[in-house]
Amino acid sequence: MLQKDHLAKVLYDYYDCVVEEYVKEGRLETDPEQIRNFFGVEKMFKSTDELFWYMCDYLVHPDDLVKLDLFRTVDLKKRFEQGENGVEVEFRMKDRKERYVWVSMTVLFEISEESHEVVYHLTLLRNIDKEKKTQMQNEVLARKDALTGLCNRSYTEYLVGKMMEKKLTGKGYAMLVLDIDDFKTVNDMYGHLTGDMVITEVSRRLSLSFEKGIVGRIGGDEFMVFFEYDEPKEQVIAMCENKRKELSFQYHENTFTLYIHCSMGMYFNPEQNRSYKKAFEFADKALYEAKSKGKNNLCVSKADEII
Ligand code: GH3
Ligand code: MG
Repeated sequence: MLQKDHLAKVLYDYYDCVVEEYVKEGRLETDPEQIRNFFGVEKMFKSTDELFWYMCDYLVHPDDLVKLDLFRTVDLKKRFEQGENGVEVEFRMKDRKERYVWVSMTVLFEISEESHEVVYHLTLLRNIDKEKKTQMQNEVLARKDALTGLCNRSYTEYLVGKMMEKKLTGKGYAMLVLDIDDFKTVNDMYGHLTGDMVITEVSRRLSLSFEKGIVGRIGGDEFMVFFEYDEPKEQVIAMCENKRKELSFQYHENTFTLYIHCSMGMYFNPEQNRSYKKAFEFADKALYEAKSKGKNNLCVSKADEII
């Protein structure tokens, strides 16, 4: 068993602010310097409740306020009945310089068996801004395709799905599916590394061409673009055909030159059926048609005119 003083030291070292409340005695124990440093305020709080209200009124990010509902006494009691005696939550809160930083707050509590009231609160606060930001960055990285930096297949599907749910401000949405022509030959004749260079270059050009849309790599040499348009369909098709042509390029290495081009399938207004899967099926069929017509061209699905 750890000695009490030793345990307290560990807590004070690890957390930026430790607040103990002995509810029955009406006593709040805390270090004023920690309060000053952590909350940026010269104030002696009388209870944990007062501290929470102060945080909610002045410091916690409005979008995160709802997370602090967990700490309401009724909720704590409910948790206690379910066998828990602590709650932890992460939220954004203003620091001393009025910048929002990520904070973790753990509240441990004790409820009297006789009165069923909370008799002891231990609140532990820590600035976790750096860790949280690294974690969020890692989550973003997991959504990106490692070779090209484009959205990976599942993240593309997620983003497109989200966009389809939104109310349109323009005329409609368009989905493009692209595939590099005869890419296997590049791999087979010049090696996988050269193949990777070609995929990377196509991706770079694609992101530049469709800055406003969602651009993802959904397969080996297959890409998706999804965007909202406001112009007449014919104009959008012409614009996409131009962009497709701009994706053609010559790739030079010491002893050889490759002529790279792509085929494109296009589907208009997928929000009419709101299904990513269905939309993809139509755009992919149009791509197949472009391939069977000799590659290096664009085909548009007629499916939206039938619905
Ligand atoms: P088509 O003109 O009909 O599109 O034929 P294709 O030769 O391009 O064939 P297809 O699109 O079916 O093949 C894609 C190939 O891409 C197959 C796979 O070996 C290769 N591939 C998949 N992922 C990668 C990768 O990350 N790097 C490289 N270098 N090749 C890849
Ligand atoms: Mg291909």
